[in-house]
Amino acid sequence: MAYRSIFDGTELRAEFEKSGINTRFIPSIWKHVLQNPNCKWEEIPSLPSTVYPLLNSKFKPLTSTLCSVTDSTDGVTSKLLLQLQSGAFVEAVIMRYDTRLGRYGGKPRPGGPRSTLCVSSQVGCKMGCKFCATGSMGFKNNLLAGEIVEQLVHASCISNIRNIVFMGMGEPLNNYMALVEAIRTMTRSPFQLSPRRVTVSTVGIIHAINKLQYDIPNLNLAVSLHAPVQDIRCQIMPAARAFPLEKLMDALRVYQNNSQQKIFIEYIMLDGVNDEEQHAHQLGKLLETFEVVVNLIPFNPIGDLSRFRTSSEVKVNSFQKVLRSTYNIRTTVRKQMGQDISGACGQLAVNLQEKICTSADRLADIEDLPL
Ligand code: SF4
Repeated sequence: MAYRSIFDGTELRAEFEKSGINTRFIPSIWKHVLQNPNCKWEEIPSLPSTVYPLLNSKFKPLTSTLCSVTDSTDGVTSKLLLQLQSGAFVEAVIMRYDTRLGRYGGKPRPGGPRSTLCVSSQVGCKMGCKFCATGSMGFKNNLLAGEIVEQLVHASCISNIRNIVFMGMGEPLNNYMALVEAIRTMTRSPFQLSPRRVTVSTVGIIHAINKLQYDIPNLNLAVSLHAPVQDIRCQIMPAARAFPLEKLMDALRVYQNNSQQKIFIEYIMLDGVNDEEQHAHQLGKLLETFEVVVNLIPFNPIGDLSRFRTSSEVKVNSFQKVLRSTYNIRTTVRKQMGQDISGACGQLAVNLQEKICTSADRLADIEDLPL
């Protein structure tokens, strides 16, 4: 029988209620598991006696297994390979950052050492973006909410996680219920992350963006725009056909009006496709009335998958200049992107079993973004 993760909150609450057990015990169970991921249920003190048989019969502290941790040579990033109960593999990446150093082109800021965790929400992805390794895998499965939260539990054994970015494998808004449930768990005791420290990256699933702002206010939203016009978007992101750019921008307008927060725009720079001066002007006009931060992401060719080329540094710099000086749009350039999952969703492994993954040692940190 497949056990549920103890971090499948909805399931756990329903089972408690069905058995007449007070759900107020849930945070203390989660806290114990967070501190002792390999615990046995009987080791958790001070629970009603009816809790133990229920947990033993239906739940496991962790349903996923941490198979490997690959540290970058500079110690900045750690890539976690996790095997789910189904046998499928997903990745999560810890990115360490010290605001005082002002690394990756960011300015030194007060704060100190901190870690951001990039989590996966699906095994594979059905959106099929042409430049993306995960997209080439196709869609395999949605993660359960507990499987998403377990990535945080595993990572918390390695580092003190302060921020979460949903930029790993999958389109998070295509796994909406699990995403919302996982974020609710992450923002409650014992994790207590502020929603403002959680960033959800999407290709622009309009109906889900409209709903998300009410289900979880104050989240950071990152939109993988990647082109300033619908035609080019459709060429490189087939899923964009279902989400016309004009309607997407309308949804973002409403989102921004409601949230009063900046929106992060991710733009992967593909040589000769979307990186010309005219594209910069089109993007500038599209975004000039929004409060956005644009992250330009020099494309990283991944093995044979690459049918695109990386934009030259000169082109990237001129693109940035147009956005900044003509349209006054805050624009950053990811220094070593493609590998940089903090700049675009789904740049993770195409073949996890063979561990052909993006180079975690070149990842930058979401906190380098001017949040
Ligand atoms: S870029 Fe994101 S949405 Fe597109 S295929 Fe990759 S994981 Fe999916």
